[in-house]
Amino acid sequence: MTYHVRRHDREIKDTKRLAEIVKSGQYAVLALCREGEPYAVTLNYGFDEAAQSLYFHCALEGQKLDFLRANPRACATVIRDLGYQHGHCSHAYASAVIHGEVEWIGAESERQHAIEIMIRHLEREPDKVLRKTSEQAATWTHTQMFKLRIGRMTGKERLPSE
Ligand SMILES: Cc1cc2nc3c(=O)[nH]c(=O)nc-3n(C[C@H](O)[C@H](O)[C@H](O)COP(=O)(O)OP(=O)(O)OC[C@H]3O[C@@H](n4cnc5c(N)ncnc54)[C@H](O)[C@@H]3O)c2cc1C
Repeated sequence: MTYHVRRHDREIKDTKRLAEIVKSGQYAVLALCREGEPYAVTLNYGFDEAAQSLYFHCALEGQKLDFLRANPRACATVIRDLGYQHGHCSHAYASAVIHGEVEWIGAESERQHAIEIMIRHLEREPDKVLRKTSEQAATWTHTQMFKLRIGRMTGKERLPSE
């Protein structure tokens, strides 16, 4: 069953604006599930708009990897926090919810691509950092990388003036 944003007046339908939220975010809360047990974990990401994927990196082991190996389906939420509206009992925000499936990154060429996407997304001076990581080849060696391929993405916002 597919749910739709109930409040049509707050739905972000414009795909460019939706992409802007994901481009400007730095981390996502990733919701995972294994045999009915939920697990939500926060991770930095890099957004590859052309590939409609979010790239992630982490240690080689841990709970989220065990969950993802058992069930690659995941749901991520990215928020732009516009602040609690004191006196109005509300919070202003723009957010995106992404439903998709995780794929592992193994091939060296895709790994390099993912690293570059993440650095360009997250770093203030990406070229400097990219130069440094290429000199220190070991920097990302002990990391697992994966991508969340976007299957469906929805957006919603509540502006401060509302
Ligand atoms: C803004 C932000 C950005 C982050 N970016 C990254 C990233 O890019 N890559 C990365 O690997 N990690 C990142 N982290 C840390 C991440 O949230 C996890 O702690 C980490 O990835 C380990 O996850 P795991 O499932 O392997 O946990 P494990 O080490 O296997 O631990 C499992 C248990 O530890 C507890 N736990 C795990 N993480 C947290 C947490 N963050 N807070 C409180 N309890 C926790 C939970 O109860 C969980 O059941 C980030 C955290 C924040 C807040």
